[in-house]
Amino acid sequence: MTHAIPLGLVGLGTIARNQHLPSLEDVPAFRLAAIASRNASLDGLPGYADIDAMLAAEPDLGAVSLCTPPQGRFAQAAAALRAGKHVMLEKPPGASVSEVMALDRLAQAQGVTLFATWHSREAAAVEEARALLAGATIRRVRIDWKEDVRHWHPGQQWIWQAGGLGVFDPGINALSILTRILPDPVFPLSALLEVPENCQAPIAARLSLQTSRGAPVEAEFDWRQTGPQTWDIHVETDGPEVLLREGGAKLFVDGAARISAEDREYRRLYARFAELIAAGQRDVDLAPLQLVADAFLLGERQMTEPFHD
Ligand code: NAP
Repeated sequence: MTHAIPLGLVGLGTIARNQHLPSLEDVPAFRLAAIASRNASLDGLPGYADIDAMLAAEPDLGAVSLCTPPQGRFAQAAAALRAGKHVMLEKPPGASVSEVMALDRLAQAQGVTLFATWHSREAAAVEEARALLAGATIRRVRIDWKEDVRHWHPGQQWIWQAGGLGVFDPGINALSILTRILPDPVFPLSALLEVPENCQAPIAARLSLQTSRGAPVEAEFDWRQTGPQTWDIHVETDGPEVLLREGGAKLFVDGAARISAEDREYRRLYARFAELIAAGQRDVDLAPLQLVADAFLLGERQMTEPFHD
């Protein structure tokens, strides 16, 4: 493609290597033009120690994609926006709700696109679930998001530190789907956060939420699950019973399998980023991060045994 937007990628960790790099190869709207990484480089691409060095040396970049941990993301995003670049943020979009609101204002003032991504919303069955629930009365919702942190996040220190979200790092994916598919807003009534005594962030959390029309939503997030992993959202309504499994990749309606499709989440995110840029729009939905912030506001803390990788 002749008019591919030159893009700079920041933070060459797990998600950048597993998803961003292969997706960028598949989405012709962008051309990976530079990398900012404290430790790594990619053959054939200009590499810089940090985003400031990259922005200074690569004035032709049109867009920046941030794949770093949420703590510290604000300064990187603000630098890119001030330099007039369109910016795509990994989830969660920041370490706090208010810093992302500030970024959104900055993007508006600069006249550039800010895209706070929620990759799980791009899972194959999410939009069909949303369509099924659009006219329904919700009776109850049950979320089970249980995985093995040692398998998925080996050696990652930032997830256990303040601002790292702990088990809400995957749990916010469930909340991003929930806030997309339900026809009504939800809010937490109470939360129990289990925090390892050597960590700042929870290893497990139980949330009781409610829709604005009074339907109960129970959510259980647990990072101690070995064996089969569970990423399910089960919605009972006055009409169809909707079950999303495997993080939104599979849909069952009244017990019957309806959708099962391959993962194209990050390709869809980059395609959407390109559409937003072309349309001169921003997409910053803070609802999932707000729910996590509210869980931290309301949550009772229970100390649990120390966590060791
Ligand atoms: P990661 O493996 O720890 O990689 C993050 C990268 O960010 C590091 O490799 C490092 O890259 C850079 N970085 C800059 N400052 C850092 C700091 N203070 N501490 C640690 N790394 C720092 O993390 P990740 O799993 O890729 O997650 C990054 C973001 O993607 C998070 O917001 C996460 O929620 C999201 N995400 C992760 C997954 C997943 O399955 N892992 C899935 C979806 C979304 P350099 O060494 O190149 O500077």
